[in-house]
Amino acid sequence: MKTKYKTSLKNLNSFGVECFSSNFNIINNEKEIIDFITLNNNPETIILGGGSNMLFKNNIDKPILKIEIKGIEIINETKEKVLISVGAGEVWNDLVSWSLSNNYGGLENLSLIPGNVGSAPIQNIGAYGVELKDVFESCRAISIETGLLRIFKNNECNFSYRSSIFKEEFKNKYIITNVVFSLSKFNHVINYTYEPLKNDLKNNNILSPNINDISKSVITIRSRKLPNPKETGNCGSFFKNPIIKDLDFKELTKKDKDIPFFKISKNKIKIPAAWLIEKCGFKGLKDGNTGTHDKHALIIINHGNATGCEIFNFSQKIKNKVLKKFNILLEEEVNIIDK
Ligand SMILES: Cc1cc2nc3c(=O)[nH]c(=O)nc-3n(C[C@H](O)[C@H](O)[C@H](O)COP(=O)(O)OP(=O)(O)OC[C@H]3O[C@@H](n4cnc5c(N)ncnc54)[C@H](O)[C@@H]3O)c2cc1C
Repeated sequence: MKTKYKTSLKNLNSFGVECFSSNFNIINNEKEIIDFITLNNNPETIILGGGSNMLFKNNIDKPILKIEIKGIEIINETKEKVLISVGAGEVWNDLVSWSLSNNYGGLENLSLIPGNVGSAPIQNIGAYGVELKDVFESCRAISIETGLLRIFKNNECNFSYRSSIFKEEFKNKYIITNVVFSLSKFNHVINYTYEPLKNDLKNNNILSPNINDISKSVITIRSRKLPNPKETGNCGSFFKNPIIKDLDFKELTKKDKDIPFFKISKNKIKIPAAWLIEKCGFKGLKDGNTGTHDKHALIIINHGNATGCEIFNFSQKIKNKVLKKFNILLEEEVNIIDK
């Protein structure tokens, strides 16, 4: 383990916010985590992956563990499926590229999502009709309080929309060290129900896409729609899309007939947070060093020198206005880290 006592976090968070850690530790294997816990026993330890879903409000005095456990290994194979064990510190998109180069199916719709493998189960990453839970077999995780190792199977993770047991009951309680994925070798399930994906494939005359076609199309759409954090600091969607009751939705449509929605169960409706934010006049708005993206109101951006507090305060202005106008309380998708 390597420990540093004054480390800039500017290049370690995709908002590009400048702040410092006074206790920064780079972790390369499980033993280093257990040794750290034995010596420090600090339940407030912060776990850092690629920093693409974190907003640091201030300098950080709590210990940070930057997980860099590497390795991709096939651990079991049948005629149709392959089980892959992957170190938490592998870059997510490198894993997607590796799976495609081996013609393993299941990750193609999740191409180009920033971040690391160990963070992917935390919010059950998802895009273009697929979520991590669809390919997740199990993960190894170490308790921050006891240092004990536990294996979580898929059905023990309580995966749901942008959430899991690691974001709820066990929030900041476990360090994921390794994830096992179950991928297909033949007869891949090709998912292109998501409208923009369907249209992009159609425009390119691809009528029976394979997993590589899906990945390429997802990359094209994402690159067109989302700001590259290397050029413009951002964390993707700042808020989750709110899920409201059928009756509340009916009430809303009395005022706004054009409100877009997705019915997700008999009496639950999901509304695009971007639409609510846009209707409150925030799309493309600049507020000092921060603001929202001009193509996507749900993405808060750093115009260059924003502090974590500035970004946070701006996000709260959005939240308050949406609450006042629609009586809907937005919930942050981004993890806000205080000190
Ligand atoms: C441009 C852009 C587009 C995005 N698009 C999407 C998208 O389409 N879909 C989507 O779901 N997300 C998206 N995101 C959000 C982000 O990519 C994901 O949340 C990703 O999983 C974060 O990975 P990370 O390694 O950067 O996590 P970090 O930001 O480092 O950490 C995120 C959370 O996970 C915890 N954590 C990290 N590693 C571990 C570990 N090993 N064990 C336990 N806890 C850990 C952290 O403490 C923190 O709470 C996007 C972000 C950006 C910047």
